[in-house]
Amino acid sequence: MARYTDAVCRLCRREGQKMFLKGDRCYTDKCALERRAYAPGQHGQGRSKASEYGQQLREKQKAKRYYGLLESQFRGYFEMASKRKGQTGENLLSILESRLDNTVYRLGFAMSRAEARQLVRHGHFLVNGRKVDIPSFLVKPGQVITIKDSSRSLDKIKSVIEANASRPAPKWLDYDRNTLTAKVVAHPTKEDIDLPIEEHLIVELYSK
Ligand code: SF4
Repeated sequence: MARYTDAVCRLCRREGQKMFLKGDRCYTDKCALERRAYAPGQHGQGRSKASEYGQQLREKQKAKRYYGLLESQFRGYFEMASKRKGQTGENLLSILESRLDNTVYRLGFAMSRAEARQLVRHGHFLVNGRKVDIPSFLVKPGQVITIKDSSRSLDKIKSVIEANASRPAPKWLDYDRNTLTAKVVAHPTKEDIDLPIEEHLIVELYSK
């Protein structure tokens, strides 16, 4: 599957905010945005204020980048959101947040969504007792997510869980830290999502 392969720190610098795409490094002074807090490229330090279209475009790009998606995937989620009842923008956020790779990240089983995606692909997680290795799998209320028994002793997974021990799980997941098991108790809502995304700008962009 196609994926973004350029330096991810450029994406944070382009959006002018930390998007925590690299895991551990994002929390150190090696963060590229801490060192060079301006957009990449020849004209990065001299960009003027964005137009209305520019703001809408940037908001869409930012959301795509947070969740590590390409345009076609993101557009597909928008179409899905627009067919659901309720507000399209909020539906879109809820769908993005329900991806299995994001859920794994939210539970503190990975330091970044990119790492979560890789762990899911490698088959370390079960949904309702069955291995699911599709990062885009959308979790639903009632489903139970856990780490495969044979993966629990892996150093990589153990150290991440330890590092994230104090990170609270979102309200839509009922997480039992003793059994490393989480039940989806609701669809994630806008209030559950701590990302600075103005979803109405994305709706405006795609509605043109
Ligand atoms: Fe973004 Fe992390 Fe790179 Fe900093 S280190 S620019 S937060 S991806």
